[in-house]
Amino acid sequence: MSLTDLMTMAKTDKELRKRIFTKLWRAHPDECFQCMRCTSGCTSLKLLELKPHEIVLLVNSGFIQELVSSDIIWTCASCLKCRERCPQNASPYNTILELRNLAVEREAKIPEAYMKAIAQILETGLTQPEQTATTRDMQPQNREKLGLPKLPYANDKFKTVFMKILGG
Ligand code: SF4
Ligand code: SF4
Repeated sequence: MSLTDLMTMAKTDKELRKRIFTKLWRAHPDECFQCMRCTSGCTSLKLLELKPHEIVLLVNSGFIQELVSSDIIWTCASCLKCRERCPQNASPYNTILELRNLAVEREAKIPEAYMKAIAQILETGLTQPEQTATTRDMQPQNREKLGLPKLPYANDKFKTVFMKILGG
């Protein structure tokens, strides 16, 4: 469902808006003046049509629950470009993070791919599984064959801290 559909179908929720704003004490989405600098540099816009300026607009307008129930908030790649580019310290990234926190708290549906990525990080400490490469003469290569050091896989300390961050 597009953001425009969400806006036309939803009702505003001032209480939830207030709550998000209380948590966002370092970012100021209410100072957003819709210049779209965030969206024009957004990594996920090219692939997924994520428009951070529209998310900020929806949060400012109080359409929180609709965003929390939507897949849109999970398409952010956490590249932080929007935070860097924003002239108003409105930080769409921080706003999206708070929306995700709210989604988890309300047991909204979290995309399977996202849950798989979290499980992968917890298990190995890596966002992607270790890859092998193939040479021009079709010989498989791994880190060991290439003389690269072993990757530091997740130890118990990492797992404990990660679970703490996740609130587990
Ligand atoms: S969040 Fe910042 S960069 Fe994005 S539209 Fe608002 S003021 Fe512009
Ligand atoms: S942090 Fe998310 S919303 Fe912001 S520019 Fe990167 S992908 Fe887009």
